[in-house]
Amino acid sequence: MLPHAGRARYRFMDQRIQEIILDLKSYLEYLKGMGIIGIPDSPKQSEEAFRSSSVTPSGPSTLEGVRNELGDCRRCKLHRTRRTLVFGEGNGEAKLMLIGEGPGYDEDVQGRPFVGRAGQLLTKILQAIGLRREEVYIANIIKCRPPQNRNPEPDEIQSCHPFLLKQIEAIQPKIICALGTFAAQTLLRTDAKITTLRGRCYDLGGIIVIPTYHPAYLLRNPERKKEVWEDMKQISGRLDENEGSAHPADDSSR
Ligand code: URA
Repeated sequence: MLPHAGRARYRFMDQRIQEIILDLKSYLEYLKGMGIIGIPDSPKQSEEAFRSSSVTPSGPSTLEGVRNELGDCRRCKLHRTRRTLVFGEGNGEAKLMLIGEGPGYDEDVQGRPFVGRAGQLLTKILQAIGLRREEVYIANIIKCRPPQNRNPEPDEIQSCHPFLLKQIEAIQPKIICALGTFAAQTLLRTDAKITTLRGRCYDLGGIIVIPTYHPAYLLRNPERKKEVWEDMKQISGRLDENEGSAHPADDSSR
């Protein structure tokens, strides 16, 4: 028989273990919702997770079909405070897709992605590699503006993610440029920092993912423009590469 203090400690640990199991359970549910059936421990393994995630249980997606399926989306709490759902825009057959974090004030008002100050900078960045906005497709990790532009929360990302995957599938870009931490971490299924992730290319089910700093971050940290320029040159070079290349991405170096 355990002494009293020992029994109390045992009960406390028992309760703690149950809490941990519950936390773990809800985290696994969250991952399952994102289409993750295994836990990749490195961005490299995310390719396999992406391939095996069931993006289209009911056949190939079209952008119009995805938009219709979203409808007047109320799948997460952001619908209560948003003005407009910002689906994404651009060329539905774009070779380059850019994915940001989520709509801000201007995007929420206009219903279009990247139209505020960060968007104007993004337009200039694209122009620097000879691209017009209409030639690429621009979307976000979440489609509704979080109140006061706070960071997206895991349940919000989870609700939106299947639709983003379907958009990617409909467009079938050669390259995705992940703009900032949330885009890079969500697409590559990692919690590594953007500073660690950028500077390399990743293969996501045959799509090259190139993370870079978010334009809003660049507005605050203009000294980082040099690195973004390197990433853009990388994107431009890869876009120009011959289509049938056997090794479209190499996640070990650049
Ligand atoms: N920031 C983003 O991440 N997306 C937008 O659409 C606008 C600003």
